[in-house]
Amino acid sequence: MKLILLGAAGSGKGTLAKKITRDFGIPQLSMGDMLRDIASSGSELGKKIGEYQNKGILVPSDVVFEVLKERLSQKDCENGYILDGFPRTIDQAHLLAKVTEVDAVISVELAFDEIERRLAARRTCPKCGDIDNANYEGFTGNCRKCQTPLFQRDDDKPEAIRTRLEVYKQNITPLINFYGDRLFKVSSAGSPDETYKPVYDFLKTLEA
Ligand code: AMP
Repeated sequence: MKLILLGAAGSGKGTLAKKITRDFGIPQLSMGDMLRDIASSGSELGKKIGEYQNKGILVPSDVVFEVLKERLSQKDCENGYILDGFPRTIDQAHLLAKVTEVDAVISVELAFDEIERRLAARRTCPKCGDIDNANYEGFTGNCRKCQTPLFQRDDDKPEAIRTRLEVYKQNITPLINFYGDRLFKVSSAGSPDETYKPVYDFLKTLEA
């Protein structure tokens, strides 16, 4: 099963992807994570990618597409995958269409003021990549999985958040139109489990 998750940063698509991976056995390909890994390698390309990411603007599509193609060629993608954070623009959707078809596109939807609130409170584990929210019950500032002190990503700070949401708003409508016939919309206003339930039911119908 080949899936695309559309949704603004902070809409909860990463959390949703992890649940799909758990239940359907297909890997989550997070473009943001893949690019952050290259950025932290310290290479020349990595430095450039890091600059785009810290400002909250898009890395050029040709660079991103090369990273994606390399990842898609790996063995664990043979039976499908979840694209989390790709495509983000209509030109990326056209590039993807040249190399593969997808079975469904899930659009995760949440009001922008709530997204801003969630992103501003988001904290990330530098060791295992888990995320938490400073407003959630039981938040201690340490990772719930590995106890490492959490940090706030540079692009989760107010100015970069505004830029990221602007970039999203500029690009989402053409993508929604492009995938119109394969689109499944879900609201992430409720809890992660409430968001996941209709998606799970929908994916089961695809599997059948
Ligand atoms: P994310 O972790 O998905 O919020 O992505 C963080 C940052 O990585 C974005 O703000 C962009 O700078 C970069 N990025 C992620 N996915 C893409 C993409 N498909 N195209 C271009 N840049 C991307």
